[in-house]
Amino acid sequence: MSISAENTIYDLIGVGVGPFNLGLASLLEPVDTLKVKFFEAKERFNWHEGLLLEDCHLQVPFMADLVTMADPTSPYSYLNYLHAQGRLLQFYFYENFQIPRVEYNRYCQWVSEKLSNLAFSHQVVGIEVVDSLFRIVVKNGHTGTQASYLARNIVLGVGTVPNWPRAASDFKNSADCAHSSQYMFVKPELQRKKHITVIGGGQSAAEVFLDLLRDQPQFGYEINWLTRSNGFFPMEYSKLGLEHFSPDYVEHFYGLPDTQRKSILAKQGNWYKGISFSTIKEIYDCLYARSIDQPNRFVLQACSQLEKIVRVDDGFQLQFQHLELQQTFDVKTEALVLGTGYQYVFPACLSDLRPSIEFDAENRPCITRDYMLKTSADIPGMIFVQNGEMHSHGIAAPDLGLGAYRSAVIINKLLGKERYPARTRTVFQNFGIADQWRDSARNA
Ligand SMILES: Cc1cc2nc3c(=O)[nH]c(=O)nc-3n(C[C@H](O)[C@H](O)[C@H](O)COP(=O)(O)OP(=O)(O)OC[C@H]3O[C@@H](n4cnc5c(N)ncnc54)[C@H](O)[C@@H]3O)c2cc1C
Repeated sequence: MSISAENTIYDLIGVGVGPFNLGLASLLEPVDTLKVKFFEAKERFNWHEGLLLEDCHLQVPFMADLVTMADPTSPYSYLNYLHAQGRLLQFYFYENFQIPRVEYNRYCQWVSEKLSNLAFSHQVVGIEVVDSLFRIVVKNGHTGTQASYLARNIVLGVGTVPNWPRAASDFKNSADCAHSSQYMFVKPELQRKKHITVIGGGQSAAEVFLDLLRDQPQFGYEINWLTRSNGFFPMEYSKLGLEHFSPDYVEHFYGLPDTQRKSILAKQGNWYKGISFSTIKEIYDCLYARSIDQPNRFVLQACSQLEKIVRVDDGFQLQFQHLELQQTFDVKTEALVLGTGYQYVFPACLSDLRPSIEFDAENRPCITRDYMLKTSADIPGMIFVQNGEMHSHGIAAPDLGLGAYRSAVIINKLLGKERYPARTRTVFQNFGIADQWRDSARNA
């Protein structure tokens, strides 16, 4: 296929327009010394549309919008969006820091329509090095044609992909076995079944279970909810716990040896994998109300790991292992929703450059403190990563609240000077040893 070539040399080309690259694009918009462009495969900005339930809320305060934590004066703030919609006073009386996810999506769409540096329906399909520049090949989703663009630097904002348990790999994306990321698209089909099983102990599984539970009287199906975690546990949300989502914690975590980081991360699941207190309360209230004068038509069970799925005439036979009892058991169901999370996958468009990128012993890219892939000398510019650095920078990597900070670090690096303050020393606690005791520090 012939590839048309644009001769402009961009200072930065972005791959993907999710919240993180959209925030970066918003903060770059007033920086007129840099020529930038962002490509997004989707037709328009749409944030996790398969799980955009009407009554779900962001799990971070609205100030975790695209820009505020780096520049509260930006025209692309959530408050300015509300102001432009004539909704500021309603929000004032709403008195709720946690905004509806549906409205966060609308806000991001509003910003995406205002920015001139975004190209939707454009999928980046390849990146190579040509004459000391990156050559980015992009496929137009409308015409199918390809074009190439030149850039000095790249930023990856490709997000994460649904995690399918191995047991379910033969049933990918069928309407009766769906990942929670597809829930809204398959919901009408699911609700025609007599028996639905939800798997997972995180926020997505809980939201799907609650949504199905609320509609249960109308449709009459039975619902199971199973997780391999040893309980339906809440996400950590205490104020001092939340300080782990700060530049200070990133700084501390990044400085630790790799083995320490790994064992710390393994213990921090409840900071980002659990269920919000409010969702647990809503589920419990609904179960309680439902149990007053109706027989229970639901089963909730923890410690149960999905081992095997077999298709049978009217659905599936699922085999689970109870992890404490060490016993297996079978569940018959007509449909399955997998709330089994997401994982970072090294972007396919970067595969030509893979030999020049440094990986750690677990095959994860090595990333500098300022969010660049570590590369060999043949790579001419910087390749930044957004939301692919949990292994090196800690649990805040996917958190919307720290996105503006990361964008500020990236912009400052691109410019070689501070355009946006990207401070540490922003929280009350010390993650390392406090200044007044550091002189006495010695190896244990
Ligand atoms: C349902 C849900 C709710 C969440 N709620 C919260 C919350 O309340 N608070 C919080 O802090 N975090 C939340 N998160 C976690 C996280 O912040 C989000 O997943 C967020 O969307 C991550 O943004 P992103 O920009 O990294 O990726 P994404 O939003 O996944 O966007 C990546 C984009 O890149 C595009 N793309 C990929 N490859 C290419 C390519 N080759 N060419 C062009 N485009 C490409 C994709 O089409 C996609 O649009 C939530 C996650 C989920 C799944």
